[in-house]
Amino acid sequence: MAAKKYTLLIIPEGSHRVRRYALPRKKLQCILVACVLAATGLFAMTTDYVLTNLDQTELARLREENQQQRSDLQRLVAGLEGLQREMTLLSQNDAKVRVMAQLTRSESDALVGVGGPPEIDNSDSFSEVQRRIDEMRRDIDMRRESQEEIQGFLNDQRSMLSAIPEGLPAKGWLTSSFGMRTSPFTGKRKFHEGFDIAARTGTPVYATADGVVSKAETVPGYGKLVVVDHGYGYRTYYGHNSKFYVRTGDRIKRGDLISAVGNTGRSTGSHVHYEVRRNDVPLNPKNFM
Ligand SMILES: [Zn+2]
Repeated sequence: MAAKKYTLLIIPEGSHRVRRYALPRKKLQCILVACVLAATGLFAMTTDYVLTNLDQTELARLREENQQQRSDLQRLVAGLEGLQREMTLLSQNDAKVRVMAQLTRSESDALVGVGGPPEIDNSDSFSEVQRRIDEMRRDIDMRRESQEEIQGFLNDQRSMLSAIPEGLPAKGWLTSSFGMRTSPFTGKRKFHEGFDIAARTGTPVYATADGVVSKAETVPGYGKLVVVDHGYGYRTYYGHNSKFYVRTGDRIKRGDLISAVGNTGRSTGSHVHYEVRRNDVPLNPKNFM
């Protein structure tokens, strides 16, 4: 740029009047610099405006998200509180059942009343919720163990109940009861270890409890004898039968047909000799009616 002065011509369209401006070089330089500065400034302002606007949008979105998360958390907490209330009810029920079943366990006693209105500390809600979830998982494990124990206990009770002899094995007339009596064979006083139930030969004889047939064979004195092992130390004897309907090793239920009344062995007439033994000690069948 060597010229000292520049001329700016402005020619409006459809007119012959031409405007001309004489511009010294310095002035032109100033104008150009001013233009560049103005453009830069405008660009910076525009950028700033756009960015600020974006930030605002982002902030609003984050705020909304935060709000959403807070209400989600609140719902979660409410759900958790509901679950905890149910857990408390469950442990109270559990404790009642344990009392009824006379089962004792210190931890489960300690669990009774655990729960109550939960208070969530808002300063650290998420870890608090996590803590509560862990706590509940432990509770649930304990409850499961307890339930299994109760179930096992009830099963034992049930099998024990069905293992204890109950009632008479045959329909008939009680002709001789448990205790000392004069032997119909020797005329001497002798202990009678069971009940004699007189009935017609062939009358069905039923097991008085669940068990396994441990003997179904002819034995001196007893004649055709069935012995049923019920577990828990209980055994029942059914003597003088005419017929067997079971074999050694058969699993039977209370009320199952096992034999027919007869007059085999040392017997003075058709009857079933019935004994209840525990740990091989004869017990009075009267106590098992
Ligand atoms: Zn007898």
